[in-house]
Amino acid sequence: MPSKQYSLVRWLKDIGSDDLALVGGKNASLGELINLEGIKVPNGFAITTDAFKHFVAPLRDEIMERVEKLRADGYESMTLLDRTSREIRSMLEEQSFDDRLKGEITDAYRELNPVGNVAVRSSATAEDLPDASFAGQQDTFLNVANLEELLDKTKKCFSSLYTARAMSYRHGTGFSEDDVSLSVGIQVMVRADWNGVSGVMFTVDTETGNENLILITPHRGLGEAIVQGEVKPDEILVLRHSLCVIQNPQKILDDAHYSELAKQAVAIEDHYAGKFGRRVYMDIEWALDGQSRELFILQARPETIHSRAVSHKRYFFVDDKEKFEVLATGRPVGMKIGHGAATILDSVAEIDSFKEGQVLVTRMTDPDWEPIMKKASGIVTDQGGRTCHAAIVAREMGVPCIVGTETGTKTIAQGREVTVSCVEGELATVFSGLPAYEVEEISLEHIPTTRTKIMLNVGSPDKALASACLPQDGVGLARLEFIIASHIGQHPLYLLKLGKEDVFVEKLVSGLSRIAGAFFPKPVIFRFSDFKSNEYANLTGGRAFEPEEENPMLGWRGASRYYDDRYREAFKLECAAMRKVIEEFGLDNVNVMVPFVRTPREAERVRAIIDGEGVKAGVYMMCEIPSNVILAKDFLPYFDGYSIGSNDLTQTTLGLDRDSALVSHLYDERNEAVKILIASVIRTCKEMGKKVGLCGQAPSDFPDFAKFLVECGIDSFSVTADVAVKTRLLVAEIEKAQADR
Ligand code: PEP
Ligand code: MG
Repeated sequence: MPSKQYSLVRWLKDIGSDDLALVGGKNASLGELINLEGIKVPNGFAITTDAFKHFVAPLRDEIMERVEKLRADGYESMTLLDRTSREIRSMLEEQSFDDRLKGEITDAYRELNPVGNVAVRSSATAEDLPDASFAGQQDTFLNVANLEELLDKTKKCFSSLYTARAMSYRHGTGFSEDDVSLSVGIQVMVRADWNGVSGVMFTVDTETGNENLILITPHRGLGEAIVQGEVKPDEILVLRHSLCVIQNPQKILDDAHYSELAKQAVAIEDHYAGKFGRRVYMDIEWALDGQSRELFILQARPETIHSRAVSHKRYFFVDDKEKFEVLATGRPVGMKIGHGAATILDSVAEIDSFKEGQVLVTRMTDPDWEPIMKKASGIVTDQGGRTCHAAIVAREMGVPCIVGTETGTKTIAQGREVTVSCVEGELATVFSGLPAYEVEEISLEHIPTTRTKIMLNVGSPDKALASACLPQDGVGLARLEFIIASHIGQHPLYLLKLGKEDVFVEKLVSGLSRIAGAFFPKPVIFRFSDFKSNEYANLTGGRAFEPEEENPMLGWRGASRYYDDRYREAFKLECAAMRKVIEEFGLDNVNVMVPFVRTPREAERVRAIIDGEGVKAGVYMMCEIPSNVILAKDFLPYFDGYSIGSNDLTQTTLGLDRDSALVSHLYDERNEAVKILIASVIRTCKEMGKKVGLCGQAPSDFPDFAKFLVECGIDSFSVTADVAVKTRLLVAEIEKAQADR
């Protein structure tokens, strides 16, 4: 049956973004969407701004008279503003619809023929209302049951144009009352309140600006609670390029629904990109009907708050910091300054006494301290070196940390206000008191590209989304043991024994996919787990499977485990997780890496397992033992290239324990012997046509070491996120000087 001819109402399918003045922003966008292939919008019609003007016409002089009076007497008087608002609103709400308007609305409602209720929503003419924040000021009514109620609520929408807040806003923004108008949208209700689900989704991760992921927030029942910020909803993450769900904690809906929603979000964003001539992130409201189980889009608008990170922070002292007493010194981690009350803790059991913003002072931390480290404004440890894993975790969390002070827990008094400084080169200082410092923002807008690829070291999947927004060429090192410690916490052999190996794989997949997804399509190198036996033993259930070793640093770690009958099945779980991320999630930017390989025979055996488990990825080996350099020609045939692990290569070349504070003054990657090995192995790789990079800590800490690598012609090296920008600028300068020579 052809639609009736209307003049004061318009069907959603007959309108689009060009009709904004006639139907308001919300209706215009619903009109755009309802005609998009693959998008379902609840059917409905718009009561146009012409209808509003028609309705208001008999009252217009009276309204304008009151507005004039308000203008003359001043909007500042809240009593007058309130009274004027109340008077105008009751005039509108008491006025009857004339036959023409009532007839059109009635006919359209009958033609819509809703099985259940309808929603009655205000749709403001956004082009006239200068600020997006104005949206949402007018009323919306859900679950409107019949025609009579619909007419009543329509009037209430009209009258909501004259709330005191709206009038005052218009006055404040210089918007003329002569031109105000409103459209109302009538739509079939999606039954989200009855066994349904509703929510919001964004085509960007709103916290970090990472645009590889669609963020969906579902909520059981009606979506208003989310929109109003009353509930803290689940956060679902979906990969944009493959529509695979990588985070779905509570399964309010199954993955297939979220994939479908993400697909629709991408289609909507693409549609508007075509219209605007550029990509605009979208903020979309949706609902799943509790009866039909169908998904509907309820609204879509550009996401206005978020923009990409455009700057990077640099910390420096501005005052005479020498006036402040030095309480301890050690090695710096992270290039920041932090301050707060010193809190000395003996063990992680005292975790509850630690307050946000305090400076943690302790003997040594391990991954169990993570919850405290997150809250700390600074960390000071007696033990450990710059490359110990506690330091690496602190750096990534962006907390300034001083390791290896030897005396911190004794020389710093409990409760003393201290400043932790990691910005003065190789010696970090704990000051008593608070010397003044400033933070400078470096613009990320004109960051050069470089021949040498500068990648990032990423530990925690939680940081990946933000780090990927920095200038970078991918991830040079993501350590699996960090993901296992923070996301799983249980020994793989223990889970295998319980028959719960799927838990291990699933959780690992979740961490891996978050990192690889954040950086897609740039390459990401995951290093197979390289816990030492003492660290493995700390995982739940680990003691039963781990030997007591005199020197775990040089013991059963890396490759030697993977083919060993006592560990092989656990290694295969890591391979299974890699395979799933590559094959099921389409993250073909994933590469894998094998640490601590002592002999070519070990290389052969591990490579055979990786291939046997069907991991189709680039496979790299870490070069971190002198044998790897001396016999490079025998190791490299099994791999696509080397990534030099300068942390271990320094340890193994100089024969010192990198975790020992006693010999830490001798630990220096710039030692000539280490540099000779590195220069030599870069040459060999190049001769053999293999890729060569470096993923140890040295270039993050020492600009002269970064320069040395560039001059050796290394293909890539990776640094921590805090120095990503600085390193890139430095490398560009070095490369330019090389070219000018
Ligand atoms: C290295 O040894 O340089 C390295 C990057 O690995 P890890 O620090 O995890 O031993
Ligand atoms: Mg290593």
